[in-house]
Amino acid sequence: MFTAIAKGLSITFKHMLPGHSTTVQYPTVKLKPSDRFRGLHRLVPTQDREKCVACYLCPTVCPAKCITVEAAENAKGEKYPRVYSIDLLRCIFCGYCVEACPVEALEMTAEYELANYRRADFEFTKERLLR
Ligand code: SF4
Ligand code: SF4
Repeated sequence: MFTAIAKGLSITFKHMLPGHSTTVQYPTVKLKPSDRFRGLHRLVPTQDREKCVACYLCPTVCPAKCITVEAAENAKGEKYPRVYSIDLLRCIFCGYCVEACPVEALEMTAEYELANYRRADFEFTKERLLR
């Protein structure tokens, strides 16, 4: 029994030594998310517009039903999302929307500091997603 206690305590004390801790002094120190981290979405822009062609695949696959798309046609006869928004309060960050997009118009960034005070601030419109 004493061996087990000693073993447990040695592990505890080892984690107190500098360089052995897995926690950081957030927000002063920030960890870099992994390359596969799924954070805030971003609509990919092209030269004069967004890459999205308003095909409705992402709102269709979204399990949380938090993507709103309204398609329209521009002067060149190209389809574009007149309205595109994501309700981050409902999003579960599964990444299905990114996988479903046929033109790679949507990606997920490493941005994870998404706390806010008002519900309206969690509605990410096209303009905010293009930033
Ligand atoms: S990450 Fe998942 S839940 Fe969030 S918008 Fe995309 S498909 Fe929907
Ligand atoms: S799947 Fe891609 S192209 Fe289609 S509506 Fe979504 S972001 Fe736009």
